[in-house]
Formats: sequence, C-alpha cells, structure tokens
Amino acid sequence: MRVKQWDVRYVVGISLKRGEMRGTKSIGTLVFVTATAFAGERMKVAVCNTGEIPRRVIASSEAEAAYVFRTVGVDIHWTDCGEEIGAPDARMRPDFIVRVQMGGKVAKAGAVSLEAMGRAFMDEKEYGFMADAYFGAIRDLTVLFPYTTSEQLLGYVMTHELGHLLIGAGHRPHGIMRASLGKSELEELNRRHLNFNDGERATILRNLQTRKAARQEN
Ligand SMILES: [Zn+2]
Repeated sequence: MRVKQWDVRYVVGISLKRGEMRGTKSIGTLVFVTATAFAGERMKVAVCNTGEIPRRVIASSEAEAAYVFRTVGVDIHWTDCGEEIGAPDARMRPDFIVRVQMGGKVAKAGAVSLEAMGRAFMDEKEYGFMADAYFGAIRDLTVLFPYTTSEQLLGYVMTHELGHLLIGAGHRPHGIMRASLGKSELEELNRRHLNFNDGERATILRNLQTRKAARQEN
C-alpha cells in the first residue's frame, strides 16, 4: 500500500506499530518518515493573545491547528506577538498574525456561523496576513454544545481563518472551510475529521510558495 507522505497520522501510526514489534530499531524510521512528512512548506504564525487567555489554552489550540496543517504538508512555526512583527527585514516577520481576543456572541439555536467566532482581513485581491479569533464566542458555543472543547474549537477557528488567508474568502459545503458549524460538525471536529480537501491543499501550498518567493525578492 502506498502511503501519501503528507498523511502524518497514517505514517506515524504505522511507525508506532513497527516500534511495538521491533523495539528501538524503528526510531530511525520514525525520525525519517517524520522528516519526510515535513518536506512540504513552512509558515510562521504569530499569535497575539490580546484577551489574556491562559497560555495552555493557546498552546493546545496551536497543536490542533498544526495537526490539520500537517495533513496538507504545512509545518507551522508559532511565535508570540513580539518585535519581529514589525521587523524591517521581511524574512524575519511572521507570514501570518492571529489575534486571539475575548468577545463575540453566538446565537442560542441552530448552526453557528464561523463569522461569529473569527475573521480574516483581506484586500480586494483576497490577499491578507491577519486574522482574529473571538474566544468569548468560542467558549460560549462549547458551553451550549459540549461536543468539543474550547481549545479544539479555537484551533479550528485559527485553521479556518488561516485557510481564508491562504485560499480566499469563499466557503465550501464540507470540511474546514464550511460557513457554519452544527452539532455533527462539532462532533467531527472533536474526532479531528474536519480537513482541507485536495484542491484546497494544492492552493495552500501554491500560495505559500508565492509568498516565499515574494519575500526573498524584497
Ligand atoms: Zn469563513
């Protein structure tokens, strides 16, 4: 069976099974396949925690977002909201900034629009590098519909908004880029079943390559 390189869940799963069977010999294999899985693109994302949300919540949300992006061959390098944001050298700056704020409100019934929980800022050419996530709305939603945790949902909102910055403003009927979330999507999210599709994956990788080329020219 051929294993797609970017499917880390699958690759790591296989390696762990081998590890059980063959002991320490497989450590080299694990390191090798993990390195192969990260042979795609990298992006630096600064998280500005303006809502003073506990650090462990942010860290766990970053892990959720990193997991989804790894399945499409993108490795995220997270940074805090530090001086590099305004660095004169474009290569030092983060590719994207996510501001995590309190606030936001969710309706008490029906599917919840993602717009209540986050926003991506883009110009008329659908180019942008900044997004917001509203932790107040995110936490309220997980209290009303406890099918997933607020950490997981924040990670999902970060992923969705970064998805807009990389793919464009539109929504899709399924997966990460859907416009709203209901009970079944929250359950899917909890099982980590919401993903980017193959077309979105290609667009994301192309977009990151274009950004990298533009940065090197500057
Ligand atoms: Zn959206």
